[in-house]
Amino acid sequence: MEPLLIPVQTVRTSGVGRSLAVMTSGGDAPGMNAALRAVVRTALSAGAQAFAIHEGYQGLIDGTDDDITPLTWESVSGILNRGGTAIGTFRSEAFRHRPGRLQAVANLVRRGINRLVVIGGDGSLKGLEELAQEWPGLLDELLDQGQIDSNQRQACDQLIYAGLVGSIDNDLWGTDQTIGADSALHRIQDAIDAITSTAASHQRTFVVEVMGRHCGYLALMSAISGGCDYVLIPERPPAAGWQQAMCEQLRRGREAGRKDSIVIVAEGATDQAGQPITAVAVRQAIEQGLDEDTRVTILGHVQRGGTPSAYDRWASTWLGYCAAAHVLTATGAEAAPVFGFQGYQVVKLPLSETITKTRQIPHLIEAGDYAAAIQLRGDEFAAALDFFDELSSPLAHVRELAPPPVLDNASVKVGPSRRRIGVLHSGGLAPGMNTAAKAVVRLGIARDFDMIGLEDGFPGLIDGRVRPLSWRDVDGWDQEGGATLGTRRYAPQIEDLYAIGRVVEETALDGLIIIGGWTAYQGAHLMLTESGRYPSLRLPVVCVPATIDNNLPATQMSIGADTALNVIVDVIDKIKMSATASARAFVAETMGRDCGYLALTGALAGGAEQVYLNETGLTLDQLRDDLAWANAAFAAGERDFFLFVRNENANANYTTDVLYHLLSEAGQGRYDARTMVIGHIQQGGSPTPADRILATELVEQALRTVADEWAQGRAGYYCVGVGSDRIQATELSQAWQQVDLNHQRPAQQWWLGLTELIATVGRTDH
Ligand code: ADP
Repeated sequence: MEPLLIPVQTVRTSGVGRSLAVMTSGGDAPGMNAALRAVVRTALSAGAQAFAIHEGYQGLIDGTDDDITPLTWESVSGILNRGGTAIGTFRSEAFRHRPGRLQAVANLVRRGINRLVVIGGDGSLKGLEELAQEWPGLLDELLDQGQIDSNQRQACDQLIYAGLVGSIDNDLWGTDQTIGADSALHRIQDAIDAITSTAASHQRTFVVEVMGRHCGYLALMSAISGGCDYVLIPERPPAAGWQQAMCEQLRRGREAGRKDSIVIVAEGATDQAGQPITAVAVRQAIEQGLDEDTRVTILGHVQRGGTPSAYDRWASTWLGYCAAAHVLTATGAEAAPVFGFQGYQVVKLPLSETITKTRQIPHLIEAGDYAAAIQLRGDEFAAALDFFDELSSPLAHVRELAPPPVLDNASVKVGPSRRRIGVLHSGGLAPGMNTAAKAVVRLGIARDFDMIGLEDGFPGLIDGRVRPLSWRDVDGWDQEGGATLGTRRYAPQIEDLYAIGRVVEETALDGLIIIGGWTAYQGAHLMLTESGRYPSLRLPVVCVPATIDNNLPATQMSIGADTALNVIVDVIDKIKMSATASARAFVAETMGRDCGYLALTGALAGGAEQVYLNETGLTLDQLRDDLAWANAAFAAGERDFFLFVRNENANANYTTDVLYHLLSEAGQGRYDARTMVIGHIQQGGSPTPADRILATELVEQALRTVADEWAQGRAGYYCVGVGSDRIQATELSQAWQQVDLNHQRPAQQWWLGLTELIATVGRTDH
C-alpha cells in the first residue's frame, strides 16, 4: 500500500500561495501538538501560509488578530514532546448556533481562508460538518449583509476541510486509534503496574476507575495490558446480580494462587437497568462478598496529561501531513476527509458516517443491543472482549495439567489426552515476549490445551529442555521485560533437525508456536522445507513476530518495536534537554540492523532534522549538503540544536564516530558535536501497552490457526501479523517469498515512504 496518500511533490506544487487555518477543539489529547506541528510545517514547506485559530471554535468566532494568527516554522518548535495543545482549546457554546457560525465564516473569508484543519473529538467534527454544510448559505447571508464582497465570496466558495480525531477515549468509529489514546494507555498502565506491586504485597484488591463515558476501550485494553481480573465497560453492562459473579471470579483467582486482584471500571459503566456502576459500588460489593481489604483508585485527569507516547507523536505527524496535504491540494470540498488509521495505514473516512456511527453506540447500549454496540466499536474491540474473558477465566485458573500422553513403541499416542502445544522463543530479546508467552499459556489452557514451555530457544529445544507451564507459572510475566523462557539468536541448521524432531515426538507436541525474530522465521522455514524428510516435523507451526527491529515479513508491526521506540524517544527528549545550555549538533544511533524502522519513526517522534537509513543509503554529497545546511542554520541563529538519527547499519564507512568528527570539524566552535549510541536499553524495559496488547492479539490468532489446522486435518506452517484485516495469518512459505534475505528484512516496507515526512517537517531550508 502507498503509505503517503498525497506525494510531497504534489503538495509543493499546489500549495504555493494558498492559506490554511488549523485549530484544536474540545477535550485536549497528547499528540495534538505533533499533528499541529506537521500541519503547519507541511503548509510552510509547500510555500503556503498557515494560520492558527486559538481556543477552538470560540477563537474563530471572536476572530481578532490575537485569535487568528499567522504561524512560522519556529512557532511550532519544541512542542512535539508536550501534552495538551499549544494553540489552546475551548468548548464553544456559541458555535453550536448559526449566528456563531456566521461570524466564524466572516472571520475566515475576510482573511481569504477557506481551507481548514480541525483536530478534535466527535463534537468538534460535528461542528465541522455543520460548518461545511452551511458554508454556501452562510456566504450568501454575509454577502447580503454586505459583510463580504462578491470577490471574497467567489474566492472562498467552498470550505475545503480535513478532520483529525484527537480523543483519549478512542471512541470514533472507523479508526483503530485516535490521537491521544495510546498516551492515555501509557498513563493507566503505569498506574496499574504500580498498584500491582503494592496489591501483591498485601493481598489486596484494587478497583481502578479509568476514563470513558461511553467507550470502554481504555478500560478493556488496560485490563488486558495490565493483566487484570475483571472489567466493567459501558458496551457490556452486566445483568442484575453482577456482584456475585464478579466475586466468584475473583475468589477462584485467589484459589489459583493469584496474589492480587485488580478490577477495572470505565467511568461510564452501568448495569443492564442503566444504573451507574461506580468504583465505590464495586469496592462495597467486594468487601461484602469476599471480606477483603479493597482500595479504590480513580485515575482522573492524569490520563489526559503528560508527555505524548512515541506512537502519538509519529502517527499524529503522519496524520497532520495528510490533513494539510489534502486541504492544500483539493480543488473542491470532498465528502470523506477525516483521516484515521486502519492497522498502521492512514485511511480517509467519510465525515458524516463517522459521526453518525459513533453517536449510534450510546443509543444501542440504551436500547439493550449490546452486540451491535460492540460490533460498531470494531473487530479489534470485539475480539479483545472475548479473549479477555478467557484470559481471566476462573475455570482455567484451577485446572491441573493432564498427565503426559502414553506413547507406543512407534511414539504414537495411545489413548485420549489433551492436545499439547509447545511454546518457544527465538532471536534477540524483544520486550513483550513474556507477555506473549503468558497470554499463549493462559489462552491455551482456557481452550483446554496443555501448554509446554521449550526453554532457551532452538538450542534448548535441541537439548530437550522442556517444562509444562501452568496458569500460575506465568503469573506476573506480562509486566516484566525479557523472556523468562529464555531466547537465543540461533537458527537451527539441517543437522539439528533430527534432534528437534525427536524432542517434538518425545514431548508429544501437536503444535508449535515460536515467538521471536528473524531466526524464528528462518528456523521454522527450514523445518517446513525439510518436513518431507522428517515426519515428526509435520505439525502445525506458527511464528509470532517479536523483535524490536520490526523487520519481519507479512506483518506491519512486531512485538517489542513500540517499546524500543519509546525508549529511543525518551532518550532523545533527554538529549534535547541537555542541549538547552549551548548550541549542539547531536547524532543519535539506533538499533535495527539493516532495517530502518526504529531510526525513522524515532526521528519522526523525536523531531529530528535528518535520518540516515540503510535502505536509503548515505553518500558523501548528502553529508556535505547536510553539514552545509546545519552550519548555515547555526550561523543565521535559526537553530541552537540539530539532531541526526542514524540507524546502526546506515553505512559501513560513515559511522556515528565519523559523523561526529565531520560535525566537529564543520562546527568550527559555533556548535559542539555530540553522539549517543542508544544501545541495548532498546531491548529492555517493561513492554508498552501497545506491545502487550499486540502480543496478546497475535498469540490468540496463533492458537486459532493451530486449532484450525487440526480441525482441517492439516499441518501447515504460518506466521501471524498485523495486516489490512488487522490480525491475520499468512502461510510461511508465502511470507518467506517477500523477504530480502541479504538484508534480513521485507523486500517492501510500508513505512519507508515516511522518510519524505522528515524532509517536510524536519527541514527548514526548502
Ligand atoms: P470533543 O470535540 O472533544 O468531542 P465537544 O463535544 O465539547 O468536544 O465539542 C467541542 C466543540 O465543538 C463544542 O464546544 C462546539 O463548539 C463544537 N460542536 C460540538 N457539537 C456541535 C454541533 N452539533 N454543532 C456545532 N458545533 C458543535
